[in-house]
Amino acid sequence: MGRMRWLAAAGLMVTVVASAQSRPAHPAADAQALDLAKRAIALRSVTGPDNKTPEVAALYKAALVAGGFADSNVEITRVDDTAYLIGTWPGSDPSLKPLVISGHMDVVEAKPSDWRRDPFTPVVENGYLFGRGASDMKLDGTIAIAALTELRRQGYKPRRTIIIQFSGDEETTMKTSAIIAEKLKNADLVLNIDGAGGTLDEKTGKPTYWTWQGAEKTYAALDMTVTNPGGHSSAPRPVNAIVQMSRALERIGAYNFTPELSDLTRASLIAQAPFEEPAIGAALNAFVANPADPAALKTLRANPSTIGRIATTCVPTMVSGGHAENALPQKVTANINCRIFPGHKPADIMAELARVAGDPAITFKDVTIGSVANDASPLRADFIAAATKAIRGIYPGIPVIPSQASGASDCQWYRYHKTPCYGASPSLIKESDEFAHGLNERMPVSNIAPGITYYLSLFADLSK
Ligand SMILES: [Zn+2]
Repeated sequence: MGRMRWLAAAGLMVTVVASAQSRPAHPAADAQALDLAKRAIALRSVTGPDNKTPEVAALYKAALVAGGFADSNVEITRVDDTAYLIGTWPGSDPSLKPLVISGHMDVVEAKPSDWRRDPFTPVVENGYLFGRGASDMKLDGTIAIAALTELRRQGYKPRRTIIIQFSGDEETTMKTSAIIAEKLKNADLVLNIDGAGGTLDEKTGKPTYWTWQGAEKTYAALDMTVTNPGGHSSAPRPVNAIVQMSRALERIGAYNFTPELSDLTRASLIAQAPFEEPAIGAALNAFVANPADPAALKTLRANPSTIGRIATTCVPTMVSGGHAENALPQKVTANINCRIFPGHKPADIMAELARVAGDPAITFKDVTIGSVANDASPLRADFIAAATKAIRGIYPGIPVIPSQASGASDCQWYRYHKTPCYGASPSLIKESDEFAHGLNERMPVSNIAPGITYYLSLFADLSK
């Protein structure tokens, strides 16, 4: 999963001045982050045969141990063809619950023949690090490792224990993500360094805004099935499985779930409004004032980038049925893909859809894999203050925007246990450079030095 952004590029209202760093504040950490990221990208940590995720874990462990972590405090655990890593920096006050820093080591498959450069040969060119995992999320991970190393180099001693963990299958089954969250559910707070992030202006390259993520929608895959005795097509019956399913899908397609606002999305929509096209921004503000406002709902539901921010959405994505040209269909199935607003159980959403489908002959089944229902994390004042201070320490005055993701992240596994989790990557990128999961993935190397500075501030503030 990459850093999710909510914005379709729009007119910008705020100019942020990037902090001038005439000479690097922590050259050793900056160099280490890039070097480690290149070595990690060269390891093809893709699920399946010859998965190199365990080697990435060994690489990260070696760096943490060289940086001062006790060897016995960095555990690598093999799971199937992958592995996960948990590194612990004990704090001076064992009564405090730990701060957890969460990332992942695996990447999405990349076909070298489709890329301009080999995806597993890291290259720095024109200010970008290219390679599979450059933006999702090997560089983000190694910036965090280098920042922890730098904190130790500076002699910092945390009062609260700091744990850094990397899952090994975030892009696929999330089995290790679930195991880690279960083990670390006692955390005071989890920083997901693979979540949220910021945007650079397309023309000027200057920082425009930065987001943190405090909730995500729950992913659900539902199957609908209708069966029928069938028969010869020359002798049609009144009830036809394809027609039944079509009518049900039409009703589902036309259905809107009740619009919702949470404390997080209220804060989020208000902060996002100024960055949107004027009509969308006005509709967001009108929606916040009155979530039943018909004109606002019409505008926001018509826009693919806003419809998911105001309600649960469920959409038919696959359908199949029938078995011969000249036979009445005996079976028709459809898949409905849902993104559920935090706070609802998938079973309740499925029951609501069954009512909307309006045909008792159609059965519904939840076939979701790799996702759990989760609520929004609380608006923790200590996190918001520390993150705002850290990001404005590197980009003075940058607008800070809370967000709820429509996609899934490792935070869901923590939120499932009610452990507060926040996406808070310091990396900024142009929308047009966002190629996470795609071809020619890249990340500006200009993110490294500010990223280190950001983490030095954030990790210390949340552990001192
Ligand atoms: Zn990711």
